[in-house]
Amino acid sequence: MEQTFIMIKPDGVQRGLVGEIIGRFEKKGFTLKGLKFLTVDQAFAEKHYADLSSKPFFNGLVEYIISGPVVAMVWEGKNVVTTGRKIIGATNPAESAPGTIRGDFAIDIGRNVIHGSDAVDSAKKEIGLWFPEGVANWSSSLHPWIYE
Ligand code: UDP
Ligand code: MG
Repeated sequence: MEQTFIMIKPDGVQRGLVGEIIGRFEKKGFTLKGLKFLTVDQAFAEKHYADLSSKPFFNGLVEYIISGPVVAMVWEGKNVVTTGRKIIGATNPAESAPGTIRGDFAIDIGRNVIHGSDAVDSAKKEIGLWFPEGVANWSSSLHPWIYE
């Protein structure tokens, strides 16, 4: 089953959106496989966003991600990478549809509340980086009520 890496950024934590965000993924029917609350350092944030290191916003992005604790999660389900990105909404909240997390809770691109992997390959890389110890091995008893 496909997995994705989702992170509630420091602004999402500060603004009390943790329960709301976890609830949206839970209610959709996805399965929580990993969860931790931690503050990462600069080297770790730079590694997570290594692909963006040449961008003009990179330093500000790293500062933002290390500015407070984040909620790191692994969610599992059919098409969870693509559907997770839809639940999150467009990168720039000015363009995120209402009903998406960024569309409902964010205004500026540099304070857009949440991260989600953009492809199955990057999800695998990010899960390996954030959960080197592995994730939980369980399956929900609701499975037959969610999948046909
Ligand atoms: N970002 C920013 N300014 C930009 C583009 C991106 O501050 O012009 C930040 C924003 O927090 C975004 C993150 O960098 O979520 C990673 O950018 P990416 O293009 O990967 O967007 P995402 O995958 O998060 O939608
Ligand atoms: Mg991205």
